[in-house]
Amino acid sequence: MSSDVPFGNRYAHWYTCNQTDPDRRLHEEALQQVVGAVEAGEITTLDGVRSPLSRRIAEHHRINTFEMNYNWACSPQDWACPCCRRSKFQISRPGAKGQILAKLVIHHDHMGEALRTAFLKEFRESGTNTAQIDGSRLVDRIGKAFAAYEEVLLCEDCNNADSKAKNLIGTPSYFSFSVNQIREFIQPSDHRPHEIDGAKARRAWDLAKAAYELRMRLIGEVARAAATDSHWFEIHPSDSCAIPVFGDRKGFPGDFIIEQWVYPEPLAIALGRNTSVTTPNFSRWRTDKPQKAKSLPQNFLAILSSQEHQAKSWSELPPDWHCPICRRSKQETVEVGTGGKLGINHKGGPRKGRWASVNRFCNHCFAVFSALKREVVQTLGVDSHDTHAAVGPDDLAKIIIARPNTPHAIRGDLALQLLERVIEAHKR
Ligand SMILES: [Zn+2]
Ligand SMILES: [Zn+2]
Repeated sequence: MSSDVPFGNRYAHWYTCNQTDPDRRLHEEALQQVVGAVEAGEITTLDGVRSPLSRRIAEHHRINTFEMNYNWACSPQDWACPCCRRSKFQISRPGAKGQILAKLVIHHDHMGEALRTAFLKEFRESGTNTAQIDGSRLVDRIGKAFAAYEEVLLCEDCNNADSKAKNLIGTPSYFSFSVNQIREFIQPSDHRPHEIDGAKARRAWDLAKAAYELRMRLIGEVARAAATDSHWFEIHPSDSCAIPVFGDRKGFPGDFIIEQWVYPEPLAIALGRNTSVTTPNFSRWRTDKPQKAKSLPQNFLAILSSQEHQAKSWSELPPDWHCPICRRSKQETVEVGTGGKLGINHKGGPRKGRWASVNRFCNHCFAVFSALKREVVQTLGVDSHDTHAAVGPDDLAKIIIARPNTPHAIRGDLALQLLERVIEAHKR
Protein backbone atom coordinates (compact mmCIF):
# COMPACT_ATOMS: atom_id res chain seq x y z
CA MET A 1 0.00 0.00 0.00
CA SER A 2 2.81 2.40 0.86
CA SER A 3 3.99 2.35 -2.77
CA ASP A 4 0.68 4.10 -3.67
CA VAL A 5 1.46 7.03 -1.41
CA PRO A 6 2.37 9.79 -3.80
CA PHE A 7 3.55 12.52 -1.46
CA GLY A 8 5.51 12.74 1.71
CA ASN A 9 2.74 14.82 3.32
CA ARG A 10 1.66 14.41 6.94
CA TYR A 11 -1.55 12.62 6.01
CA ALA A 12 0.34 10.13 3.81
CA HIS A 13 2.64 9.45 6.75
CA TRP A 14 -0.30 8.90 9.14
CA TYR A 15 -1.99 6.70 6.54
CA THR A 16 1.12 4.49 6.17
CA CYS A 17 1.40 4.08 9.95
CA ASN A 18 -2.24 3.01 10.19
CA GLN A 19 -2.30 0.51 7.34
CA THR A 20 -1.50 -2.25 9.75
CA ASP A 21 -2.97 -5.69 10.09
CA PRO A 22 -5.61 -5.03 12.78
CA ASP A 23 -7.71 -3.03 10.34
CA ARG A 24 -7.55 -5.69 7.65
CA ARG A 25 -8.38 -8.35 10.25
CA LEU A 26 -11.51 -6.40 11.18
CA HIS A 27 -12.68 -6.47 7.55
CA GLU A 28 -12.17 -10.23 7.45
CA GLU A 29 -14.04 -10.62 10.74
CA ALA A 30 -16.92 -8.50 9.44
CA LEU A 31 -17.18 -10.73 6.37
CA GLN A 32 -17.29 -13.86 8.53
CA GLN A 33 -20.01 -12.31 10.72
CA VAL A 34 -22.20 -11.54 7.69
CA VAL A 35 -21.72 -15.05 6.26
CA GLY A 36 -22.48 -16.53 9.70
CA ALA A 37 -25.64 -14.44 10.03
CA VAL A 38 -26.83 -15.62 6.58
CA GLU A 39 -26.19 -19.27 7.51
CA ALA A 40 -28.03 -18.86 10.82
CA GLY A 41 -31.05 -17.35 9.06
CA GLU A 42 -30.57 -13.95 10.74
CA ILE A 43 -29.90 -12.18 7.43
CA THR A 44 -32.29 -13.28 4.67
CA THR A 45 -31.65 -10.46 2.21
CA LEU A 46 -28.60 -12.44 1.03
CA ASP A 47 -28.38 -16.10 0.07
CA GLY A 48 -25.49 -18.55 -0.49
CA VAL A 49 -24.87 -22.29 -0.58
CA ARG A 50 -25.31 -22.70 3.19
CA SER A 51 -28.40 -20.49 3.67
CA PRO A 52 -31.53 -22.05 5.20
CA LEU A 53 -33.16 -21.88 1.74
CA SER A 54 -30.23 -23.69 0.08
CA ARG A 55 -30.33 -26.38 2.75
CA ARG A 56 -34.03 -26.88 1.99
CA ILE A 57 -33.31 -26.99 -1.77
CA ALA A 58 -30.44 -29.48 -1.29
CA GLU A 59 -32.66 -31.71 0.83
CA HIS A 60 -35.50 -31.60 -1.73
CA HIS A 61 -33.27 -32.59 -4.67
CA ARG A 62 -31.01 -34.83 -2.53
CA ILE A 63 -28.00 -33.05 -4.05
CA ASN A 64 -25.39 -31.05 -2.17
CA THR A 65 -23.42 -29.43 -5.01
CA PHE A 66 -24.59 -26.04 -6.21
CA GLU A 67 -23.76 -24.21 -9.41
CA MET A 68 -24.63 -20.80 -7.99
CA ASN A 69 -23.92 -17.46 -9.62
CA TYR A 70 -23.36 -14.01 -8.13
CA ASN A 71 -26.94 -12.82 -8.68
CA TRP A 72 -28.38 -15.82 -6.83
CA ALA A 73 -25.92 -15.65 -3.93
CA CYS A 74 -26.35 -11.90 -3.43
CA SER A 75 -30.15 -11.59 -3.80
CA PRO A 76 -32.82 -12.15 -1.08
CA GLN A 77 -33.85 -15.70 -0.21
CA ASP A 78 -37.54 -14.78 -0.60
CA TRP A 79 -37.05 -13.28 -4.08
CA ALA A 80 -39.48 -14.47 -6.75
CA CYS A 81 -38.97 -14.11 -10.50
CA PRO A 82 -41.09 -11.12 -11.64
CA CYS A 83 -41.75 -12.91 -14.93
CA CYS A 84 -42.76 -16.50 -14.09
CA ARG A 85 -43.51 -15.63 -10.40
CA ARG A 86 -41.69 -18.73 -9.17
CA SER A 87 -39.79 -18.60 -5.86
CA LYS A 88 -36.09 -19.51 -5.73
CA PHE A 89 -37.13 -22.90 -4.34
CA GLN A 90 -39.45 -23.50 -7.32
CA ILE A 91 -36.78 -22.32 -9.78
CA SER A 92 -34.04 -24.62 -8.40
CA ARG A 93 -33.48 -27.76 -10.48
CA PRO A 94 -30.84 -30.44 -11.08
CA GLY A 95 -28.45 -29.79 -13.98
CA ALA A 96 -26.93 -32.30 -16.39
CA LYS A 97 -23.82 -32.76 -14.26
CA GLY A 98 -25.62 -33.78 -11.09
CA GLN A 99 -25.49 -30.28 -9.62
CA ILE A 100 -28.25 -27.90 -8.52
CA LEU A 101 -28.59 -24.98 -10.93
CA ALA A 102 -28.99 -21.72 -9.00
CA LYS A 103 -28.69 -18.94 -11.54
CA LEU A 104 -30.39 -15.60 -11.99
CA VAL A 105 -29.61 -13.29 -14.88
CA ILE A 106 -30.13 -9.66 -15.72
CA HIS A 107 -32.43 -9.45 -18.70
CA HIS A 108 -31.65 -6.50 -20.94
CA ASP A 109 -32.50 -5.01 -24.24
CA HIS A 110 -29.96 -4.89 -27.12
CA MET A 111 -30.74 -1.46 -28.55
CA GLY A 112 -27.36 -0.06 -27.45
CA GLU A 113 -25.65 -2.64 -29.66
CA ALA A 114 -28.08 -1.89 -32.48
CA LEU A 115 -27.17 1.79 -32.31
CA ARG A 116 -23.41 1.10 -32.23
CA THR A 117 -23.75 -1.22 -35.27
CA ALA A 118 -25.83 1.36 -37.16
CA PHE A 119 -23.27 4.06 -36.30
CA LEU A 120 -20.40 1.98 -37.72
CA LYS A 121 -22.45 1.20 -40.84
CA GLU A 122 -23.22 4.90 -41.42
CA PHE A 123 -19.58 5.74 -40.78
CA ARG A 124 -18.45 3.28 -43.46
CA GLU A 125 -21.09 4.20 -45.99
CA SER A 126 -20.80 8.00 -45.62
CA GLY A 127 -17.05 7.80 -46.13
CA THR A 128 -16.52 10.35 -43.30
CA ASN A 129 -12.78 10.88 -43.18
CA THR A 130 -12.27 12.44 -39.77
CA ALA A 131 -12.54 10.79 -36.37
CA GLN A 132 -16.00 11.19 -34.82
CA ILE A 133 -15.07 11.11 -31.14
CA ASP A 134 -18.06 13.19 -30.02
CA GLY A 135 -20.41 11.14 -32.20
CA SER A 136 -19.06 7.88 -30.83
CA ARG A 137 -19.52 9.13 -27.27
CA LEU A 138 -23.05 10.24 -28.11
CA VAL A 139 -23.84 6.72 -29.31
CA ASP A 140 -22.62 5.33 -25.96
CA ARG A 141 -24.77 7.75 -23.99
CA ILE A 142 -27.95 7.46 -25.99
CA GLY A 143 -28.05 3.68 -26.54
CA LYS A 144 -29.96 2.97 -23.33
CA ALA A 145 -32.63 5.55 -24.18
CA PHE A 146 -33.88 3.26 -26.96
CA ALA A 147 -34.39 0.27 -24.67
CA ALA A 148 -37.94 -1.08 -24.53
CA TYR A 149 -37.72 -1.93 -20.83
CA GLU A 150 -35.49 -1.44 -17.82
CA GLU A 151 -32.87 -4.04 -16.89
CA VAL A 152 -34.45 -6.62 -14.62
CA LEU A 153 -33.34 -9.68 -12.64
CA LEU A 154 -35.00 -12.87 -13.94
CA CYS A 155 -34.59 -16.60 -13.50
CA GLU A 156 -32.39 -18.21 -16.12
CA ASP A 157 -35.39 -20.17 -17.47
CA CYS A 158 -37.26 -16.96 -18.32
CA ASN A 159 -34.19 -15.47 -19.99
CA ASN A 160 -33.71 -18.70 -21.98
CA ALA A 161 -37.39 -18.65 -22.98
CA ASP A 162 -36.80 -15.24 -24.57
CA SER A 163 -33.96 -16.62 -26.76
CA LYS A 164 -35.84 -19.82 -27.62
CA ALA A 165 -38.98 -17.91 -28.68
CA LYS A 166 -36.94 -15.51 -30.82
CA ASN A 167 -35.22 -18.41 -32.60
CA LEU A 168 -38.54 -20.11 -33.11
CA ILE A 169 -40.16 -17.07 -34.74
CA GLY A 170 -37.08 -15.59 -36.38
CA THR A 171 -37.34 -12.08 -34.90
CA PRO A 172 -34.72 -9.47 -35.90
CA SER A 173 -31.45 -9.93 -34.03
CA TYR A 174 -31.73 -6.84 -31.81
CA PHE A 175 -35.21 -7.55 -30.56
CA SER A 176 -35.86 -8.93 -27.05
CA PHE A 177 -39.15 -9.72 -25.37
CA SER A 178 -40.01 -7.79 -22.20
CA VAL A 179 -41.12 -9.40 -18.92
CA ASN A 180 -44.82 -8.93 -19.69
CA GLN A 181 -44.37 -10.31 -23.21
CA ILE A 182 -42.41 -13.38 -22.03
CA ARG A 183 -45.07 -14.13 -19.42
CA GLU A 184 -47.66 -14.36 -22.21
CA PHE A 185 -46.04 -17.35 -23.91
CA ILE A 186 -44.36 -19.43 -21.17
CA GLN A 187 -45.87 -22.32 -19.25
CA PRO A 188 -43.84 -22.48 -16.04
CA SER A 189 -43.71 -25.42 -13.65
CA ASP A 190 -41.59 -26.16 -10.59
CA HIS A 191 -37.99 -27.37 -10.99
CA ARG A 192 -38.17 -27.50 -14.80
CA PRO A 193 -37.37 -25.19 -17.76
CA HIS A 194 -40.44 -23.45 -19.23
CA GLU A 195 -42.54 -24.83 -22.07
CA ILE A 196 -43.08 -22.26 -24.83
CA ASP A 197 -46.35 -21.66 -26.65
CA GLY A 198 -45.19 -20.84 -30.21
CA ALA A 199 -48.50 -19.31 -31.33
CA LYS A 200 -48.64 -16.97 -28.34
CA ALA A 201 -44.99 -15.98 -28.86
CA ARG A 202 -45.76 -15.10 -32.49
CA ARG A 203 -48.71 -12.99 -31.36
CA ALA A 204 -46.49 -11.15 -28.83
CA TRP A 205 -44.02 -10.36 -31.63
CA ASP A 206 -46.82 -9.16 -33.94
CA LEU A 207 -47.94 -6.71 -31.23
CA ALA A 208 -44.39 -5.49 -30.52
CA LYS A 209 -43.31 -5.16 -34.16
CA ALA A 210 -44.49 -1.60 -34.91
CA ALA A 211 -42.75 -0.07 -31.88
CA TYR A 212 -39.58 -2.03 -32.68
CA GLU A 213 -39.52 -0.72 -36.23
CA LEU A 214 -40.07 2.85 -35.01
CA ARG A 215 -37.09 2.52 -32.67
CA MET A 216 -34.93 1.14 -35.47
CA ARG A 217 -35.83 4.11 -37.71
CA LEU A 218 -34.91 6.56 -34.93
CA ILE A 219 -31.69 4.66 -34.30
CA GLY A 220 -30.86 4.99 -38.01
CA GLU A 221 -31.34 8.79 -37.80
CA VAL A 222 -29.20 9.18 -34.67
CA ALA A 223 -26.50 6.91 -36.08
CA ARG A 224 -26.34 8.94 -39.31
CA ALA A 225 -26.06 12.24 -37.40
CA ALA A 226 -23.38 10.78 -35.10
CA ALA A 227 -21.29 9.37 -37.94
CA THR A 228 -21.45 12.45 -40.16
CA ASP A 229 -20.79 15.19 -37.58
CA SER A 230 -24.31 16.58 -37.87
CA HIS A 231 -25.24 15.90 -34.23
CA TRP A 232 -25.52 18.03 -31.09
CA PHE A 233 -23.07 16.54 -28.64
CA GLU A 234 -19.79 18.11 -27.51
CA ILE A 235 -17.43 16.17 -25.29
CA HIS A 236 -14.98 17.48 -22.73
CA PRO A 237 -11.34 16.76 -23.73
CA SER A 238 -10.28 13.43 -22.23
CA ASP A 239 -6.92 14.82 -21.02
CA SER A 240 -8.63 17.02 -18.44
CA CYS A 241 -11.23 16.26 -15.77
CA ALA A 242 -14.57 18.01 -16.36
CA ILE A 243 -15.50 18.13 -12.65
CA PRO A 244 -12.26 17.99 -10.63
CA VAL A 245 -14.07 18.01 -7.28
CA PHE A 246 -13.04 15.55 -4.56
CA GLY A 247 -15.56 12.73 -4.31
CA ASP A 248 -16.54 12.88 -7.99
CA ARG A 249 -13.20 13.10 -9.72
CA LYS A 250 -11.04 10.17 -10.76
CA GLY A 251 -7.29 9.76 -11.14
CA PHE A 252 -6.12 12.52 -8.81
CA PRO A 253 -2.94 11.57 -6.95
CA GLY A 254 -3.52 10.94 -3.28
CA ASP A 255 -7.34 10.79 -3.44
CA PHE A 256 -7.33 7.04 -3.00
CA ILE A 257 -5.68 7.14 0.41
CA ILE A 258 -7.75 10.12 1.56
CA GLU A 259 -10.98 8.32 0.60
CA GLN A 260 -9.97 5.35 2.78
CA TRP A 261 -10.58 7.37 5.94
CA VAL A 262 -12.27 10.67 5.08
CA TYR A 263 -15.79 11.26 3.70
CA PRO A 264 -16.32 14.19 1.26
CA GLU A 265 -19.08 15.98 3.21
CA PRO A 266 -17.28 16.35 6.57
CA LEU A 267 -14.07 17.13 4.69
CA ALA A 268 -15.70 20.05 2.87
CA ILE A 269 -17.09 21.37 6.16
CA ALA A 270 -13.70 20.97 7.89
CA LEU A 271 -12.10 22.81 4.98
CA GLY A 272 -14.50 25.69 5.59
CA ARG A 273 -17.23 25.21 3.00
CA ASN A 274 -19.88 27.02 5.01
CA THR A 275 -18.06 30.34 5.24
CA SER A 276 -20.80 32.43 3.65
CA VAL A 277 -20.09 36.14 3.40
CA THR A 278 -23.47 37.40 2.24
CA THR A 279 -26.40 37.15 4.63
CA PRO A 280 -29.60 36.13 2.86
CA ASN A 281 -32.57 38.45 3.31
CA PHE A 282 -34.84 36.51 5.68
CA SER A 283 -37.75 38.96 5.47
CA ARG A 284 -38.41 38.62 1.73
CA TRP A 285 -41.23 36.11 2.29
CA ARG A 286 -43.40 38.94 3.73
CA THR A 287 -42.05 41.96 1.86
CA ASP A 288 -41.70 40.74 -1.76
CA LYS A 289 -44.47 41.34 -4.28
CA PRO A 290 -46.63 38.18 -4.52
CA GLN A 291 -46.21 35.88 -7.51
CA LYS A 292 -48.67 36.22 -10.37
CA ALA A 293 -51.68 33.90 -10.12
CA LYS A 294 -51.41 30.66 -12.09
CA SER A 295 -54.03 28.33 -13.50
CA LEU A 296 -54.18 24.57 -13.97
CA PRO A 297 -54.34 22.96 -17.42
CA GLN A 298 -57.57 21.06 -18.01
CA ASN A 299 -55.74 17.67 -18.15
CA PHE A 300 -53.72 18.46 -15.00
CA LEU A 301 -54.49 15.14 -13.32
CA ALA A 302 -53.01 13.13 -16.21
CA ILE A 303 -49.85 15.29 -16.19
CA LEU A 304 -49.53 15.09 -12.40
CA SER A 305 -50.09 11.33 -12.31
CA SER A 306 -47.34 10.74 -14.89
CA GLN A 307 -44.89 11.04 -12.01
CA GLU A 308 -45.44 8.13 -9.66
CA HIS A 309 -44.67 9.93 -6.40
CA GLN A 310 -47.06 12.76 -7.34
CA ALA A 311 -49.80 10.27 -8.23
CA LYS A 312 -49.31 8.75 -4.77
CA SER A 313 -49.49 12.14 -3.00
CA TRP A 314 -52.70 12.93 -4.88
CA SER A 315 -54.43 9.63 -4.08
CA GLU A 316 -53.45 9.73 -0.41
CA LEU A 317 -55.89 12.58 0.22
CA PRO A 318 -59.71 12.07 0.10
CA PRO A 319 -61.55 13.87 -2.76
CA ASP A 320 -63.26 16.34 -0.39
CA TRP A 321 -60.05 17.27 1.41
CA HIS A 322 -59.38 20.93 2.15
CA CYS A 323 -56.19 22.40 3.58
CA PRO A 324 -57.15 23.08 7.23
CA ILE A 325 -55.19 26.36 7.17
CA CYS A 326 -55.84 28.08 3.84
CA ARG A 327 -59.16 26.24 3.18
CA ARG A 328 -58.22 25.53 -0.45
CA SER A 329 -59.51 22.33 -2.08
CA LYS A 330 -57.23 19.45 -3.01
CA GLN A 331 -57.20 20.59 -6.64
CA GLU A 332 -56.45 24.20 -5.66
CA THR A 333 -53.34 23.13 -3.73
CA VAL A 334 -51.68 21.68 -6.86
CA GLU A 335 -48.73 23.95 -7.58
CA VAL A 336 -47.99 25.19 -11.09
CA GLY A 337 -44.22 25.61 -11.23
CA THR A 338 -41.78 26.92 -13.80
CA GLY A 339 -41.92 25.28 -17.22
CA GLY A 340 -45.45 23.99 -16.53
CA LYS A 341 -44.28 21.54 -13.84
CA LEU A 342 -47.10 20.41 -11.56
CA GLY A 343 -46.65 19.31 -7.96
CA ILE A 344 -48.65 18.29 -4.94
CA ASN A 345 -46.72 17.87 -1.74
CA HIS A 346 -48.61 17.94 1.54
CA LYS A 347 -46.96 18.11 4.93
CA GLY A 348 -47.78 16.57 8.28
CA GLY A 349 -47.99 18.76 11.39
CA PRO A 350 -46.70 17.90 14.89
CA ARG A 351 -50.24 16.69 15.89
CA LYS A 352 -50.08 18.25 19.35
CA GLY A 353 -50.89 21.50 21.14
CA ARG A 354 -52.38 24.09 18.79
CA TRP A 355 -51.67 21.70 15.88
CA ALA A 356 -53.54 18.73 17.39
CA SER A 357 -56.40 18.87 14.89
CA VAL A 358 -54.17 19.38 11.81
CA ASN A 359 -53.31 16.15 10.04
CA ARG A 360 -52.04 17.19 6.58
CA PHE A 361 -51.67 20.74 5.34
CA CYS A 362 -50.64 22.15 2.00
CA ASN A 363 -47.16 22.89 0.72
CA HIS A 364 -47.82 26.62 0.37
CA CYS A 365 -48.94 26.95 3.99
CA PHE A 366 -45.84 24.98 4.97
CA ALA A 367 -43.66 27.38 2.94
CA VAL A 368 -45.10 30.36 4.86
CA PHE A 369 -44.57 28.62 8.20
CA SER A 370 -40.96 27.69 7.29
CA ALA A 371 -40.14 31.21 6.11
CA LEU A 372 -41.51 32.65 9.34
CA LYS A 373 -39.52 30.15 11.38
CA ARG A 374 -36.32 30.94 9.47
CA GLU A 375 -36.70 34.64 10.19
CA VAL A 376 -37.38 33.98 13.88
CA VAL A 377 -34.33 31.75 14.18
CA GLN A 378 -32.20 34.25 12.28
CA THR A 379 -33.33 37.15 14.50
CA LEU A 380 -32.86 35.25 17.75
CA GLY A 381 -29.61 33.66 16.68
CA VAL A 382 -30.69 30.24 18.03
CA ASP A 383 -32.51 27.43 16.29
CA SER A 384 -33.90 25.68 19.37
CA HIS A 385 -37.08 27.71 19.28
CA ASP A 386 -40.32 25.68 19.17
CA THR A 387 -42.16 27.66 16.50
CA HIS A 388 -45.06 25.20 16.38
CA ALA A 389 -45.91 26.12 19.98
CA ALA A 390 -45.76 29.86 19.28
CA VAL A 391 -47.48 29.90 15.87
CA GLY A 392 -50.74 28.05 15.44
CA PRO A 393 -52.65 27.22 12.24
CA ASP A 394 -55.06 30.10 13.01
CA ASP A 395 -52.14 32.57 13.16
CA LEU A 396 -50.97 31.41 9.72
CA ALA A 397 -54.50 31.63 8.29
CA LYS A 398 -54.66 35.32 9.27
CA ILE A 399 -51.50 36.41 7.45
CA ILE A 400 -52.07 34.62 4.12
CA ILE A 401 -54.18 35.47 1.09
CA ALA A 402 -54.92 32.10 -0.48
CA ARG A 403 -55.13 31.82 -4.28
CA PRO A 404 -55.71 28.64 -6.32
CA ASN A 405 -52.57 26.84 -7.58
CA THR A 406 -50.27 29.71 -6.61
CA PRO A 407 -48.05 30.37 -3.56
CA HIS A 408 -49.87 32.45 -0.92
CA ALA A 409 -49.69 36.22 -0.99
CA ILE A 410 -48.80 37.62 2.46
CA ARG A 411 -50.47 40.41 4.46
CA GLY A 412 -47.19 42.16 5.23
CA ASP A 413 -48.37 44.22 8.23
CA LEU A 414 -50.04 41.27 9.98
CA ALA A 415 -47.04 39.06 9.21
CA LEU A 416 -44.72 41.59 10.86
CA GLN A 417 -46.96 41.77 13.95
CA LEU A 418 -46.96 37.98 14.23
CA LEU A 419 -43.19 37.85 13.83
CA GLU A 420 -42.66 40.45 16.56
CA ARG A 421 -45.06 38.66 18.87
CA VAL A 422 -43.26 35.33 18.44
CA ILE A 423 -39.87 36.93 19.05
CA GLU A 424 -41.15 38.76 22.15
CA ALA A 425 -42.71 35.56 23.49
CA HIS A 426 -39.36 33.83 23.17
CA LYS A 427 -37.49 36.58 25.03
CA ARG A 428 -39.84 36.40 28.01
ZN1 LIG B 1 -38.73 -16.74 -14.26
ZN1 LIG C 1 -52.90 25.53 2.88
